[in-house]
Amino acid sequence: MSGIEIASLNKSWATFNAVQDVSFTVEAGTLTVLLGPSGCGKSTTLRLIAGLEGATSGAIRIGGRDVTNEPPARRDLAMVFQSYALFPHLSVAENIVFGLKVRKVPAAERARRLQRAVDILGLSHLLDRKPSQLSGGQQQRVALGRAIVAEAPVCLMDEPLSNLDAQLRHEMRKEIRSIQKSLGMTMVYVTHDQIEAMSLADQVILMRNGRIEQKATPSELYLRPATSFAARFIGTPPMNLVELADGADGAVVKGTNGPALVEGRGAGLLLGVRPEEIRIASTGIVPAIVQSIDYHGADSILECLVGDQLLQVRVEGVRRHAVGDPVGLEWKPEAMHVFDRETTRRVE
Ligand code: ATP
Repeated sequence: MSGIEIASLNKSWATFNAVQDVSFTVEAGTLTVLLGPSGCGKSTTLRLIAGLEGATSGAIRIGGRDVTNEPPARRDLAMVFQSYALFPHLSVAENIVFGLKVRKVPAAERARRLQRAVDILGLSHLLDRKPSQLSGGQQQRVALGRAIVAEAPVCLMDEPLSNLDAQLRHEMRKEIRSIQKSLGMTMVYVTHDQIEAMSLADQVILMRNGRIEQKATPSELYLRPATSFAARFIGTPPMNLVELADGADGAVVKGTNGPALVEGRGAGLLLGVRPEEIRIASTGIVPAIVQSIDYHGADSILECLVGDQLLQVRVEGVRRHAVGDPVGLEWKPEAMHVFDRETTRRVE
C-alpha cells in the first residue's frame, strides 16, 4: 500500500521560502486536499511530491520508500494538471495511452487499460476525436483517463477542475472521488476552493504563507478551526470575528456594555460565531440593529450592527426583518470560538 509521508519539507528560491517546515502523512487509499489562498505554496508542495521541483531540505517517502532524490518517473505516480496538458494532434485514445507507450507497455495490456478507463469515464464514443473537438469536461475526463491507465497507486491533482463551470465541477468532483475510492488510489489534490476541499477530502491541509495552518478532517476544520485564519477560510459567508473587551462580569463585545459572553477577560480576544449559528429574534441576548439585507431566495444574509461591529446572520427564507429594525441575536455556547488577536490561535 502506498501512503505518503512528508517530513519537514522546505523549498526556497533565493531568499524566498515558498514551503516551510511542511510535514504530513497521507494514509494509503485516502484523499488529502492541499487548500489555501493563491501563493500559499500548495502547488509547490505538490510539485515537490511529484519530483518536478527538488526539495531544499526535508524528506518525501512514498510507500515507505524514500523518493526525495528520485526523478519523477521513478516515483510511481500519476499527475493531472489544471491545463490537462493534452496533445492536440493525438486522438482521445492516443492521448490516454501515450504514457503507456513511452513506458513500452505491450499493446494488449494498453488496450485492456484503455477499455477500463473509458468505461469508467464514459468516453468510449469519443475515442477518435481530437482534444479541440471536446468540451472542457470531456478534456478533463481524458486527462483523468491518463491518470487511471497509469495504474499508479498515487495520483496528484493540481486544480484539475478550475476550467470548468460550476455544474460540471460538481459532477466531476463526485466522479473523481468515486474513482479514487473504487480504485483505492492515494490522492493529493490541490485547490483554493474550500467547498471542493470540504466535499472531497478525508484530510485537509490548510496552508498559509508556505506553512501548514491546520491539518484536520473537513468537519474538524469547520467545527474547531485552530486559528482565526482557518475560521474565516472555511464557510460561506465566513465566520464572524468580533473584538471583545473586558466587561464587569466577563468578556463583552467591544464598544457595548454587555451582556457578558465569555468568562474572564476579553481584551485582545476575538469571538467567532458562524452566520448560520446565529438566531435572530425581536428580543435576544445581544442587542443589534439590522443594517442591510441580502436576499438570496432560500435564505438571506442580514448584516447586524452590534456596538460598532458588523455581524452577518443567515436567516432562512421569507423576509421578516427590515433595515433599521432593532433585533436580538443569540447562539448556543458551543457555537462560540475564541481566538487570540495577536497569535491568531484558538484559546481553549
Ligand atoms: P496558486 O493557487 O496561485 O497556484 P499556490 O498556493 O499553488 O498558488 P505556489 O504556486 O506553490 O502557490 O507558489 C508559492 C510561492 O512560490 C508563490 O509566491 C510563487 O510566486 C513562488 N514561486 C513558485 N514557483 C517559483 C519559482 N520557480 N521561482 C520563484 N518563486 C516561485
